[in-house]
Amino acid sequence: MHLILFGPPGSGKGTQADKLVSRYGLAHISTGDLFRSEIRQKTEFGNKAMEYISRGELVPDALTIEMLRARVAALSDVRGFIYDGFPRTLAQAKALDEMLAVKGDAIHLLLALDVPEDEIVRRILHRGLSSGRPDDTDEAIIRNRITVYHQETSVLFDHYAVHGVAHRVNGLGSIDEIFDRLCRHLDPLF
Ligand code: AMP
Repeated sequence: MHLILFGPPGSGKGTQADKLVSRYGLAHISTGDLFRSEIRQKTEFGNKAMEYISRGELVPDALTIEMLRARVAALSDVRGFIYDGFPRTLAQAKALDEMLAVKGDAIHLLLALDVPEDEIVRRILHRGLSSGRPDDTDEAIIRNRITVYHQETSVLFDHYAVHGVAHRVNGLGSIDEIFDRLCRHLDPLF
C-alpha cells in the first residue's frame, strides 16, 4: 500500500498521518521530519538542507531523493507507506514512481487536503508558537513556502489524477471529521 498524503504546508498532513498510522499500520515517511532529524544531529546533510529550509525553499531533488530512498530501504517488512511532504516536484514523483515500478508497485492513492491559504497561514503561525520550527514563525517565509507549493508541487495532483488515484478531501473541520473523510477512501482498500 503506497499512499501520498498531499496538500500545502499547514494543511494537516502530519497530524492526519499519525492517525492513519495507528489505524492502518502503515509506515509514515515525512521528508520534513527526516530533514529536521538530520539538522538536530548536525550532519553535513542536515547543514546543507537547513540553508534551503530556513528560506522556505525546497531542498534540491538529488539530496531529497537520496534521503527518501535510504529511509524506504531501511524499513523492510511493513504493510505499506504514507508519504507526507514527498514528492514535491515532478522529478521527485518520477523517481518515486520508478522506485516502485522496479518492484512491480505503484502509488495506490493520493489524498489532497484542501485548505484555503489564509487558514494555512493562521495554522502554521499557531504551530510556530510551540513547534520550535524557525520556518513556522516568519510570515514571509510561510508565504514563500505556499508560493513554492503552487509553483512546483500542486501540479503533482494531475500527475496522479491521470491514473485515477488522486482525490481531494475537505481539510476544514475538526481533526476527527477530516480523518473520517480520509478513512472513507482508505477503508475499501484494506
Ligand atoms: P515540511 O515539514 O513537509 O513542511 O517540510 C519542511 C521543509 O523541508 C520544506 O519547507 C522544505 O524546505 C523541506 N522539504 C521537506 N520535504 C521536501 C521535499 N520533498 N523536497 C524538497 N524539500 C523538502
